[in-house]
Order: sequence, then structure tokens, then C-alpha cells
Amino acid sequence: MKDDLQFSWELSGSGWATYRISDAAHKHKEIVSYCTNALADLLHGVAGLYGEPSVQRVSFDLEPAEERWQLRRRGKDVDISIYRFPDMHVSWDAPDEDGELSWSSTQPRQLLGHAVVEAARTVLSLHGEAGYLKKWVQHPFPVAELHDLRRLHQQEDECQRCQNSPGPDIHR
Ligand SMILES: [Zn+2]
Repeated sequence: MKDDLQFSWELSGSGWATYRISDAAHKHKEIVSYCTNALADLLHGVAGLYGEPSVQRVSFDLEPAEERWQLRRRGKDVDISIYRFPDMHVSWDAPDEDGELSWSSTQPRQLLGHAVVEAARTVLSLHGEAGYLKKWVQHPFPVAELHDLRRLHQQEDECQRCQNSPGPDIHR
């Protein structure tokens, strides 16, 4: 079943974020640490799906586990596969398939782009840039990455959801 992707990103404590991703069949939730610039990396990885190469990877540090998103574009769709490795220090150069598959789904790129943009915008409107930095400590809110992905999504995907509720433009 396609067209049923849900995604949210929440600052859950100092230096930790909780994300939730689901389709109609399966839910997945993970808590990631500020050791990497996680939200920026995700926005950047999804933005990569609007160019070459067609496979993008985003790693999250779970201290010590690694969770790695493999995003594989096929035409207008994206195969999303989330792999888990027990220790990031060991797995950083391991092939994806060595990890344990935690969640996977195939979704339209249009919907993935929209969901990730909206999740990041929700974080920004909830905390503001100052509030974000206070909670995430190591990295500022990824304003430029959000702007880039939103621009690509609005230019390249004919997104009905954006057209129905364009919302206010984000401040740079
Ligand atoms: Zn949209």
C-alpha cells in the first residue's frame, strides 16, 4: 500500500530526538542522539533524491548502535529501508545488508519529501531556532537544508498537499 506515509520528528530531551515513521502496515520509532547533525543529515539525504545518485544513505547514532536509512529512488517512488547495526564504530563502513532490517516501505518521493519537510517545519515552529539549539546543543536548526529540500519538493513534485495548504514561507 502506497500513499500512507506518516513521519514525525520530536526533540525529546537534551541531545535526543525521537522520530516515528509508519505506513499502513508497520510503525517504527527510534531515539537518535546529537552526536551527528541528524535532522540536517535527513533533510540533505532526502534532497539528494532529486538528483544523482539514486541511492542516498543517512546514518543516525543511537549510542552505540547505528541506524541507517537507505533511500533508493525508482522513477517517482522511493524504496525506504531502515537497517540497524549494533555498534556504529564498527559498522560505519559495513554494507547496508549486514544490518538488521527494522522497517521498509515504498512511497512516492512526493510524499516522502512532503512528510520530511513538514516534520522539520513543525520542529521549527514549536521551538524556534534558539529553542532548537538549546535542546540539540551541538548543532543549530538546519535552516538551509530545510529551505533546499522544500524548494526541490515544490519545484519537482507536483504536490497536491502543498497546493492545498501552502502555509507561510519559512524565514531564512
Ligand atoms: Zn508538499
